[in-house]
Amino acid sequence: MKILVVNCGSSSLKYQLIDAETEKALAVGICERIGIDGRLVHTPAGGEKIRMEADMKDHKAAIKYVLDALTSSEYGVIKHLDEIGAVGHRVVHGGEKFASSTIITEEVIAGIEECSDLAPLHNPANLIGIRACQHLMPGVPMVAVFDTAFHQTMPQKAYLYGLPYEYYENYKIRRYGFHGTSHSFVAKRAVQLLGIDSNNSKVIVCHLGNGSSVSAVLNGKSIDTSMGLTPLEGLIMGTRSGSIDPAIIEYLMKKEGMDIDQVMDVLNKKSGVLGLSGISSDFRDLEDATAEGNEKAIMAVDVFNYHVAKTIGSYVAAMNGVDAIVFTAGLGENDKAVRKGTMSYLGYLGVEINEENNNTRGKEVELSTPDSKVKVYIIPTNEELAIARETVALLA
Ligand code: ADP
Repeated sequence: MKILVVNCGSSSLKYQLIDAETEKALAVGICERIGIDGRLVHTPAGGEKIRMEADMKDHKAAIKYVLDALTSSEYGVIKHLDEIGAVGHRVVHGGEKFASSTIITEEVIAGIEECSDLAPLHNPANLIGIRACQHLMPGVPMVAVFDTAFHQTMPQKAYLYGLPYEYYENYKIRRYGFHGTSHSFVAKRAVQLLGIDSNNSKVIVCHLGNGSSVSAVLNGKSIDTSMGLTPLEGLIMGTRSGSIDPAIIEYLMKKEGMDIDQVMDVLNKKSGVLGLSGISSDFRDLEDATAEGNEKAIMAVDVFNYHVAKTIGSYVAAMNGVDAIVFTAGLGENDKAVRKGTMSYLGYLGVEINEENNNTRGKEVELSTPDSKVKVYIIPTNEELAIARETVALLA
């Protein structure tokens, strides 16, 4: 069976067509600037990247271009649309309603709508993608895979904030966590590499990209994670502040004469390593600046690494130990300086690093030495494959 995986944002739509038997992507692509003008970048496996300016007035038009590209006689990878057995949709927020992936029905759509308050930028876009696919592929089963679902196993002590309990009861204000598909995929692979029983395993996953989060996975289940009600909490990120003293918000409003929207804009878009360094949110730029001795770049990366290491330490405490620590996503897979900087704090765990392996980029590798008490790995994440697997499992 071939599975179309769709990740729909407000003005973009990423897709992959995955062969469920071989687990290989037959084509990958992205539609950008939907509703503005429209551009499709489509890459058939082993083929050349095709770029097209396309008239995408809405997401339905974008999906139509994707389906045309997939079935094109020139650069397509299937002959007929009926070769697509199912569609797996990434959905950002499942609230407390969705603790696992689910086949999409009208009731599920209503449930995703209910969670839109919690992710006002993402869930409505995800729903538009679902509706557009339903319209263009009637009768094809669709599955929703939620970013939050994997973390629904967190115990109350991990997900409750120290706020009046009625806010949890009335508004469901609590920690949800994100990147769940990635944390789950990578943690499972780590247990395979460790060769231990999943029911007796302790894994810490560091998903470090533009948005970053760490999770504690005990016996295959997430028991804590650094992002919260929204993806703003936790680690310092590319442009997001991560956790700060909440009183800073009022203080800033008074000092800078900003309103709440302006402060939130600073916290989401102008903070993190971008705000600290004044240079960039992209660690490749910070690496270049560091090589030139730029003190602010050095400081920003230092702060980032320190926060990752502190979070790892707190999860070692939460699980009373750890078998493996895993680095994944753009930074985790590629940035040796971040990995080295983070791991430099982990000597107390008996972590010993194989410096040569730490030069690896984007490939699965063991970073720890054979004598290391705790194993450390790079495990590339593959959220699309994880979504395709979930889709197939639900339709079986
Ligand atoms: P997102 O959260 O948007 O999915 P990614 O997981 O793609 O982000 O990570 C993007 C970040 O990863 C970039 O901003 C960059 O800092 C970092 N990154 C990606 N590739 C490299 C690389 N080759 N070397 C160093 N850093 C990289």
